[in-house]
Amino acid sequence: MPEPLTPGELLALDRQHVWHPYGPMPGRAAPLLVESASGVRLRLAEPVEGQGELVDGMSSWWSAVHGYNHPVLNDAARGQLERMSHVMFGGLTHEPAVRLAKRLVDISPEPLQHVFLADSGSVSVEVAVKMCLQYWRSLGKPRKQRLLTWRGGYHGDTWQPMSVCDPDGGMHELWQGVLPRQIFADTPPAGFDAAPDEAYTAHLRELIGRHAEELAAVIVEPVVQGAGGMSFHSPGYLRVLREACDEHGVLLVFDEIATGFGRTGALFAAEHAGVAPDVMCLGKALTGGYLTLAATLCTTAVADGISRGALPVLAHGPTFMGNPLAAAVADASISLLLSQDWGQEVKRIEAGLRNGLAPAADITGVREVRVLGAIGVVQLDHEVDMAAATRAAVREGVWLRPFRDLIYTMPPYITGDDDVARICAAVCAAAREG
Ligand SMILES: *Cc1c(COP(=O)(O)O)cnc(C)c1O
Repeated sequence: MPEPLTPGELLALDRQHVWHPYGPMPGRAAPLLVESASGVRLRLAEPVEGQGELVDGMSSWWSAVHGYNHPVLNDAARGQLERMSHVMFGGLTHEPAVRLAKRLVDISPEPLQHVFLADSGSVSVEVAVKMCLQYWRSLGKPRKQRLLTWRGGYHGDTWQPMSVCDPDGGMHELWQGVLPRQIFADTPPAGFDAAPDEAYTAHLRELIGRHAEELAAVIVEPVVQGAGGMSFHSPGYLRVLREACDEHGVLLVFDEIATGFGRTGALFAAEHAGVAPDVMCLGKALTGGYLTLAATLCTTAVADGISRGALPVLAHGPTFMGNPLAAAVADASISLLLSQDWGQEVKRIEAGLRNGLAPAADITGVREVRVLGAIGVVQLDHEVDMAAATRAAVREGVWLRPFRDLIYTMPPYITGDDDVARICAAVCAAAREG
């Protein structure tokens, strides 16, 4: 065993050497030191604001849908670890990857038949884009290499994904002239239940028609725009995209990395619209938050197109492709999800969030409260004071990670009603103090 380090030593070394998401070096705000986690609770190495444990309101960024330290997922990981944690995927294959791919094909919209296992969400989006560009190239239409998306989206932090993130965020200004230039429709009008707006629908159709010659694909997050602003839109717009893409010969990619595996109340958000994409990205909750893994699914038409081209292969192959450990846990996590009435659990959490977040509407500085499935959002009319909001939540015994003008929660599906209420109270406290 290495020499034990005190919490103070760990935090000092962290500050000195370790990058955190979207952080400067050295880090500005000290992170909380987590010692272990189980169920919906994160155990801190030392108490903060009088709390030794925090109820997790974030599911570790949408991923830990079954909570932490789950016996079923632990068993799957342990069992696979004793067989092999990894072998290369070039020229070799193994049961965990085959089983997982088959299962993803079985549970996803019917036309999706082929699975590329990638190591992170961003990489799965890179692969999706590569599939679409390569498809058109194979079909003798190499000019079709641009993407269309709507504003307010988020698709990851590597290059192609960045180019289709919301262009008004800092990244586009920072990387002007360096990022591929894509085509942006306006942000979809807000409201899951709102009837599709005709002027907006016409705008989408017009833009796709006008750029069809140069468009490889339309890529969007269906129903919920996550890290781009936590906003919800009518599934009707997805049907419009499907029609316009079919009419003009453009592929449709749904990025379900955040929405997949039940979060919005449907197993995949595309089901709200009853349409299937040509390519779909999955990640985040895929392994129940245990390990990094993502998947890009495509139709037989896309796969055939690529495989008949001048370069008749999909030119991508990460070192850790199909990682057996991650694949085994993913398969166990999906089994676990499907073995219970997950839809009922999401509905129960939705009701708890609606009830518990309603009082936030009366807090000064709150612009809107919205809930869909197991996602609750309080939007402020100002940039949130991260430090103050986080402190307020921690004081209530809850872990939240607000950003921009948003204080939001997407709890693990196993969160009990009392803990959902506690999370809501913490969101309200954060809104009051942030
Ligand atoms: C998180 C996210 C990504 C990026 O996934 P990483 O695993 O962080 O690379 C892409 N698209 C959406 C919709 C996401 O929420």
